[in-house]
Amino acid sequence: MKASRMLIATLKEVPNDAVIPSHILLIRSGMIKKMSAGIYNYLPLGLRTLRKVENIIREEMDKAGAEEILCSCLQPKELWEASGRWYKYGSELMRIKDRHDRDFCLAPTAEEVFTDLTSVLVKSYKQLPVIPYQIQTKYRDEFRPRFGLMRSREFIMKDAYSFDVDTEGLDKSYDLMYKTYEKIFDRFHLNYKIVLADSGAIGGNGSHQFMALSSTGESDIIYCDCGYAADAEKAESKAEVAEKEEMLSLEEVHTPNFKTIEEVANFLNIDVKKTVKAVAYRDLEHNKTVICFVRGDRDVNEIKVINELGVSEELIRMATPEEIAEIGTVDGFMGPIGLKEENVLIDIEVTNMYNFVVGANKKDYHIKNANFNRDFKGKILDLRLAKESDLCPICGKPMKLERGIEVGQVFKLQTKYSEAMGCTYLDKNGQTVPMVMGCYGIGVTRTMSAIIEQYHDEFGIKWPLNVAPYHVVIVPAKYTDPAQQELADKIHDMLNDTKVEVILDDRDASLGFKMKDFELIGIPYIMIVGRRAAEGIVELKDRMTNEKVEMPYEEAIKKIVEAVENI
Ligand code: ATP
Ligand code: MG
Repeated sequence: MKASRMLIATLKEVPNDAVIPSHILLIRSGMIKKMSAGIYNYLPLGLRTLRKVENIIREEMDKAGAEEILCSCLQPKELWEASGRWYKYGSELMRIKDRHDRDFCLAPTAEEVFTDLTSVLVKSYKQLPVIPYQIQTKYRDEFRPRFGLMRSREFIMKDAYSFDVDTEGLDKSYDLMYKTYEKIFDRFHLNYKIVLADSGAIGGNGSHQFMALSSTGESDIIYCDCGYAADAEKAESKAEVAEKEEMLSLEEVHTPNFKTIEEVANFLNIDVKKTVKAVAYRDLEHNKTVICFVRGDRDVNEIKVINELGVSEELIRMATPEEIAEIGTVDGFMGPIGLKEENVLIDIEVTNMYNFVVGANKKDYHIKNANFNRDFKGKILDLRLAKESDLCPICGKPMKLERGIEVGQVFKLQTKYSEAMGCTYLDKNGQTVPMVMGCYGIGVTRTMSAIIEQYHDEFGIKWPLNVAPYHVVIVPAKYTDPAQQELADKIHDMLNDTKVEVILDDRDASLGFKMKDFELIGIPYIMIVGRRAAEGIVELKDRMTNEKVEMPYEEAIKKIVEAVENI
């Protein structure tokens, strides 16, 4: 490929809205171009890398015995009504109407479509298990699209769905996909962690996320050296147990204008750990207000509340002061004593505390010396957000925190969709049984970003060889110099006859200018044909290490051919 004929669209300036390296570099290297918020066009170089990323995923999925199909991005409302998600999915779902006023959505995921298809295609236990998958565009009307391909409104996802006769079958399929994902992310040379995850709105139980480690990641990973690792939304921690004390009698204290728990603790001159904090939520599905109680220094994990209430994320919000008043308390002074049990959720750690301070459910008052069981009851569960240095639920040692980019997630869906949508098979005895499902997603375009987050420097991207848009670029210092042109053309022709994907930078520009372009784009090998061209000597720069070595051109060719053959 001749550089003079390519749509090279490198930029010097950092785009206004880009803050993280992968976003900045994808735009500056001319791999993608923004069209609208969270919507991008893929330019030639970006598309080449995208195709390579897709193909690595495809190869491993095919090896695992999964089978590729391609479904429409346009999905009819009826399928989403059948699963019950048309309303539940909320405002991330891009809904559209056709000219006959029929409702459709642009696929954010495809459980419904795959479940529906399989229910028609598979009739008997003899046809199971199957794992159809696709690599297809997805649409999510993200509240805040950001970070380029990391959180876009249109993106490419590999989504696979497993259908088995029973849960043992599902466990096997899940395990197979889990291992396949390890192979895939290894091939991307990503430094990643596999963590326990919440299964969220998608439903089912049992889920893992594949997190590419990066300080720019949007997910918090809580982990322990013993091997425990979980997404912060899912993470548990060992509840602390306060030193035992004799229970003292309740005492009301006047705490005018002190609303936050820190203010109250300060005023009463006690440790926040001797207080209990209240957070009130409104469950819009069941029209109910619940107050969650955690130790004063803790935060409530909203996902745990959502799971407990069995509502979707869209149908829960903070309760208003009026809604709080309706259940007999006062915003800012909420406490568990005297409330109805049905309105109260209590973190288990609170049951390990003695003589603590709670709101008095009365304006400007708190109560001292509260004790669980003696003074109040309520549903006890793990409600707190686990954080760094909390104790590991498995081994009890302090845990650590790291940031990650969620590049993939696997879920055990069980029969949530197959039951709702009538996806059944006939078993050996002729009985109709719902198929047991799993689903498995990889953010293909987000993976491109994650690779860049881990492979870049101040000059640009450093693509690993197997996903680089091209393997090598030949850069003559001055292409109009006859000796340089002759050698550069010769190397270009020789490499073109191999598997190596090669660019010849035949542009009329300075060596520095050309080098900058390809360092930014991240071509793994840059072969400089310069003043020693007549002797057949070139300089080979390895973009990963930035090392430059002079060598005969034949040796450079051999090196690159070998590297490409060993991908
Ligand atoms: P997130 O929590 O980051 O919003 P998610 O858990 O909602 O993602 P899934 O439904 O698990 O996403 O989708 C499968 C994969 O698709 C994710 O692991 C992620 O890699 C990718 N993905 C999800 N949303 C986006 C997005 N807006 N832009 C790019 N990739 C995305
Ligand atoms: Mg996910």
